[in-house]
Amino acid sequence: MQIKNFQEAERRLIDLIETIKLDSNIKHLYKYHGINDPIGKQLGIEIKEQALHNQYGFYMSESPKTGKPTITIDPNGSDEERLNFTYFHEVAHHIIRSDDELYSFIDEKATQNADLNALKEKLANIGAAEFVIPSKDVKEAINENGFSINLLLELDKKYPASKPAITIQLARQASHKCFVIVCEFGQVAHKETDQIELIEKEKISNSKCLYVRYATSSPSNKYSIGLFTTISKKHLLSDVFENKLPLKKGKDVIPFRNGKEWKELYEGMYYKGKVYAVFNLEKPPSPANLQPELFKL
Ligand SMILES: [Zn+2]
Repeated sequence: MQIKNFQEAERRLIDLIETIKLDSNIKHLYKYHGINDPIGKQLGIEIKEQALHNQYGFYMSESPKTGKPTITIDPNGSDEERLNFTYFHEVAHHIIRSDDELYSFIDEKATQNADLNALKEKLANIGAAEFVIPSKDVKEAINENGFSINLLLELDKKYPASKPAITIQLARQASHKCFVIVCEFGQVAHKETDQIELIEKEKISNSKCLYVRYATSSPSNKYSIGLFTTISKKHLLSDVFENKLPLKKGKDVIPFRNGKEWKELYEGMYYKGKVYAVFNLEKPPSPANLQPELFKL
């Protein structure tokens, strides 16, 4: 079967990961387990741990030394959430590289001038998210409760240490047009990149600010928000950060890199040192199973 568009590629990748998960003996949480990680073993990937300076990890389909597919990862380069995410991101690169249908889709897209790297990274992020939190569970949570950034709290209890994955899944399982972003406070990298890993040669500015660390668009939303876009101090999300607001709804500009003044309704939430937000370009649908107790005023 030939893959015709990105959505079909995404479906194919999720199907492959579901099969890999069924074949593994892991029952619940998928985490990085070091160089003998069972998923790495199952897929015939060698894992090398070493300090890396400009990135958290990378994948080679054929190591020049051993000729084997290899993931190199820096176990001390990031916190647990990012380490897990990076590992499964690299595993997803392997799955994409090893599947003829996915690989020929990417190859063909690349010849049509699509940005090959951005496409591969987007797919690898979706794959990483699928390992740590199944899209089915997220879809179910959205159908039951309606779409809100608040769902992150519930899902984080069930799938700890996977908030980047949860936010990707929330956006990808949303049936309406929206963006889901994660903002962090710190020194922002000048060089912009669409990869989840910071890439080499970036300059770090001296002043700290709130900026977009992860951004995902829902499937029906053709726009995207650039990583490392700074959030203005006047933006309502800066208020959410400074005052550690548990949930704030309002209307403000979407943080596009080009500074475009496009205001939409958003929900922002301070949680464990970061700001999670959704910008809705259209109204999210009502929950499938309306539970009256949820609608008490
Ligand atoms: Zn990558």
